[in-house]
Amino acid sequence: MNLQEEIKKLNQNTQQKKKAYQKTIQQLKKLKPYDADELFHTQHEQVFSEIDCLQCANCCKTTPPLLLNEDINNISRKLNVPVKKFMQEYVVKDEDGDLVFNQSPCPFLGADNFCKIYEVRPNACREYPHTNRKKMNQIFDLTVKNTEICPAVVRILNNIENALT
Ligand code: SF4
Ligand code: SF4
Repeated sequence: MNLQEEIKKLNQNTQQKKKAYQKTIQQLKKLKPYDADELFHTQHEQVFSEIDCLQCANCCKTTPPLLLNEDINNISRKLNVPVKKFMQEYVVKDEDGDLVFNQSPCPFLGADNFCKIYEVRPNACREYPHTNRKKMNQIFDLTVKNTEICPAVVRILNNIENALT
C-alpha cells in the first residue's frame, strides 16, 4: 500500500483497528517506560526515514495545532502584524479552552504542502506526532487517537505490534 492509500484508509474500520492498537498498548504497559520509549524511538526513526511528510500533510489539513503564547508572538512577529490583529484573524479557543488556528486545513499550509511559516511553526507542529518523546507511556491514548490522522503513527504501532509478537 502506498502513502496516499494509507491516508485514505485512516478513517476506515476505526473501532476495529483501535481494539487491535489497544491490545498492543496493553503489552506496552507491561514494559518498563524506558523500554517502551526505546521501541517507539526505533520505529519513529525507521518510519520517518521512509515517509515524506510533504507527500502527506494530513495533520496540517485536519488538525489545528494548539498554540502557546510564545507561538503566537513568534508568528505575529514573522508576519509583521500586531498580536491582537493576528489573534482576530487566525485564532480561536477550542472546546477545551486551548488556543488553536481558526481554520482547517491550516491557513499557513501551501498548495505544495510546505508550511509558509516553517521557521516559526508552533511547538505542537514541531513535536507532532510525539512518537520520539520521552515517557511515551504518558501518551499511549493520544498515540492511538493519532492513528486517525497520521499514517506514520499507524506504521509505528503496526511495527511495534510485530516486534512484540
Ligand atoms: S503551522 Fe505549518 S506545520 Fe503547523 S499546521 Fe500549519 S502548515 Fe502545518
Ligand atoms: S506527521 Fe504524520 S500526518 Fe503529519 S505529515 Fe507527517 S506523516 Fe503526515
